[in-house]
Amino acid sequence: CGIVGYIGEQQTAPILIEGLQKLEYRGYDSAGVAIYTDQGIAVKKFKGRLAVLEEHLNKHRVPGTLGIGHTRWATHGEPNDINAHPHSSYGGKIAVVHNGIIENYMRLKEWLSTLGAEFTTETDTEVIAHLIEHYYEGDLIQAVQKAVHRMEGAYAIGVICKDEPNKMVAVRKDSPLVVGIGQGENYIASDIPALLKYTRDVYFLEDGEMAVLTKDNIDIFDELGMPVERSIYKVTWDL
Ligand code: GLU
Repeated sequence: CGIVGYIGEQQTAPILIEGLQKLEYRGYDSAGVAIYTDQGIAVKKFKGRLAVLEEHLNKHRVPGTLGIGHTRWATHGEPNDINAHPHSSYGGKIAVVHNGIIENYMRLKEWLSTLGAEFTTETDTEVIAHLIEHYYEGDLIQAVQKAVHRMEGAYAIGVICKDEPNKMVAVRKDSPLVVGIGQGENYIASDIPALLKYTRDVYFLEDGEMAVLTKDNIDIFDELGMPVERSIYKVTWDL
């Protein structure tokens, strides 16, 4: 029920954990991260407390400066390690975290299965990863745009791609997501408390909008893919 994402020059694992801790108040049953590494995207995810994930990452460090993290409140598929987020696509190209529900996931699952996608979880979320990989032709932004056109329901998603190490894509519809603006680093999160340690400058995404983050830049697009001008919101309160 919480999303955090980081792209920059610092080690992302501790930043993701700390952000997820600030979102614990939203409730959750499992937690996980996907981190871009030299060997591809590493996914670590566990049922239970965030501390389980944190201890694992302390013992088995995953170096990387681009990553997404998630605390899950299960809606489709029981709470267990496999159903925990992030979810990966069948080719291992895409990792995705998702808050919300994909209402038409069954139809998408059947369709993608006939095309050869192998499903390994019981979640609605896994279809998002496979959908994006299905549409991927060398451009993550286009693939995500095509995928969200097929998705019905509520979602905030964070996506990274093995072939695009300098980019994170986020989209929201009927589920909250804010973008944190740093210097040489940028963030996404379900809620401001996850970002306050790092920045007070944020963009609020509106329904249907997509944010494309690099470490030095943030672009926002509307549902039709047209660029959107958004003014910076300055957070003046403290936790
Ligand atoms: N529907 C998704 C699942 O059950 C996401 C739940 C959430 O928002 O944490 O895995």
